[in-house]
Amino acid sequence: MTATRIDGKAFAAQLRDRVGKDAAEFETRAGRKAGLAVVLVGEDPASQVYVGSKGKATVAAGMASFEHKLPADASAEDLLALVDRLNSDPSVDGILVQLPLPGHLDEQSIISAISPDKDVDGFHVINAGRLSVGQSGFVPCTPLGCMMLLTDRLGDLSGLEAVVIGRSNIVGKPMAQLLLDANATVTIAHSRTKDLPGVVKRADIVVAAVGRPEMVKAEWLKPGATVIDVGINRLPPEPGTEKGRLVGDVAFDEASEIAGAITPVPGGVGPMTIAVLLRNTLVAAYRNEGLDVPEDL
Ligand code: NDP
Repeated sequence: MTATRIDGKAFAAQLRDRVGKDAAEFETRAGRKAGLAVVLVGEDPASQVYVGSKGKATVAAGMASFEHKLPADASAEDLLALVDRLNSDPSVDGILVQLPLPGHLDEQSIISAISPDKDVDGFHVINAGRLSVGQSGFVPCTPLGCMMLLTDRLGDLSGLEAVVIGRSNIVGKPMAQLLLDANATVTIAHSRTKDLPGVVKRADIVVAAVGRPEMVKAEWLKPGATVIDVGINRLPPEPGTEKGRLVGDVAFDEASEIAGAITPVPGGVGPMTIAVLLRNTLVAAYRNEGLDVPEDL
């Protein structure tokens, strides 16, 4: 059997198109563009790249992007003062503080300072709480993107066995919550799980969010399972090359022989994350203006 490749890149492009159309509609109705503020502290090269691509994607979708860069030694007071300003700025609908922050800054207390209604990353405890009790808030972008791919592929998830490997606050836990809300029977596995291959074998849906290259093997999978690979891992470079290959947490080639459908790395979950960030920002904008959120978002 050869699995269907779930094309996250194409799906994300369609979502960005819809966001672009709805952003234009928002601008007409609200008389202003929806806006995303991204805060970067320090000069971590990977974070600079992420912030740059988020800004470009925001502008490409017809929304306003506000980039704020603070030096690596910025104090918590400086950062909190900026967050405060952005909270009360009516042209800013979404606020994202790029993680990780330099070690002297406490991430949770900074995130807690963001207004929950502008927390488009969905990391604020209020939004985590809203998700867990079934109220509408903001859901972290990566798991929401995974959920969109899953429902597009499978439709109704009721009664399906889902195994999420990983229990982080930004991926594993919200992913499990979303699957539970969709009436799947959910197991969360982690580094202390006994017999992980046996647990995964039960799953109709496997979401791997671990950060270990090609850990999930073909023989762990139930034939026909739908596999969502969140992992992004860079292998050591091959001789004569500068950069190693990017791989996921699932051994893609062999898993493709057993799974029914699988996301590739790159080109699977990765492109969904930014597309959902744009979607969340536009949802925030509609809500902030008291307008109904379009159904296609
Ligand atoms: P974390 O490091 O926060 O969490 C990893 C989880 O995997 C933990 O719950 C850990 O268990 C579990 N784990 C580690 N080793 C094992 C093991 N041997 N067996 C079973 N479980 C294990 O990572 P994140 O959730 O932030 O990210 C996970 C992966 O997803 C990373 O590769 C990251 O790069 C990628 N990612 C991709 C995104 C995208 O846009 N595509 C966005 C976000 C993340 P325990 O809790 O017991 O320690």
